[in-house]
Amino acid sequence: MRVNPIEVNDLSASYGAGTALDHVSWRAGSGEFWAVVGPNGSGKTTLLKTLLGLLPAAAGEIALFGTPTGRFGDWHRIGYLPQFSGIASPRFPATVREVVGMERLAAKRFPRWLGPADATAVTDSLARLGIADLAARRIGELSGGQRQRVLLARALVNRPPLLLLDEPTLALDPDSRNAFYELLAEMNRRDGVTIVLVTHDSATAGNYASHLLYLDRKVVFSGSFSDFCSSPEMTSRFGAFAQHTICHQHDRAGGAP
Ligand code: ADP
Ligand code: MG
Repeated sequence: MRVNPIEVNDLSASYGAGTALDHVSWRAGSGEFWAVVGPNGSGKTTLLKTLLGLLPAAAGEIALFGTPTGRFGDWHRIGYLPQFSGIASPRFPATVREVVGMERLAAKRFPRWLGPADATAVTDSLARLGIADLAARRIGELSGGQRQRVLLARALVNRPPLLLLDEPTLALDPDSRNAFYELLAEMNRRDGVTIVLVTHDSATAGNYASHLLYLDRKVVFSGSFSDFCSSPEMTSRFGAFAQHTICHQHDRAGGAP
């Protein structure tokens, strides 16, 4: 039996007085593609940061690949694309190859320098995202779509079995956005990568993801899209929004109306 990449039990988190996550329990199984949706300020980014240990939990437990986060050390098994990255700033001085290479360095304990295997991994990751030709360019001079591909190449350079993405397509035009989602879908299908995608784009979420986590500080819904779309309580709670945007994949597939 394969162990769940993510298990969260009764997790609460806060910034000072305000509660950002309120007794959240959730698990993501191996190979699942989760869309995480919810209004602004509903705790989506906080959840990812808490998973990654960037923010302490006020209460509750988190296990990654079956290991409680306090003892977890295999961070290279998790690729993370943050909502806002300083590396995406126009003034960031590094080249594409350096930006992606840094993530190889981060995965090392000893020796902490880059060798030929790392160079190959960087080249492979760039090629995989169709940006081999950008390797020597400075990241600051790239377009939004190119930059986002570089950040994804970086998140993927260690071939992580778990990928956490926080609104990765906000800055992308519709064409780049679709290409980006296609790429995620392919990694999910072909390589079995578990994906957690925070997005405002619920229509797209319905097209690509297998599971839905609806957060509003608390868990409003957690489960498969088919359960969401076949549950009268859920569809009445979310009304036209759920029927017309989130559930349309099932309409098109000839499933529930
Ligand atoms: P989402 O990603 O769903 O938009 P966040 O997880 O960023 O929501 O935020 C959840 C709540 O925590 C919001 O009320 C937000 O204002 C608050 N919050 C987020 N980051 C900080 C911070 N660094 N300091 C104080 N409050 C924060
Ligand atoms: Mg956010």
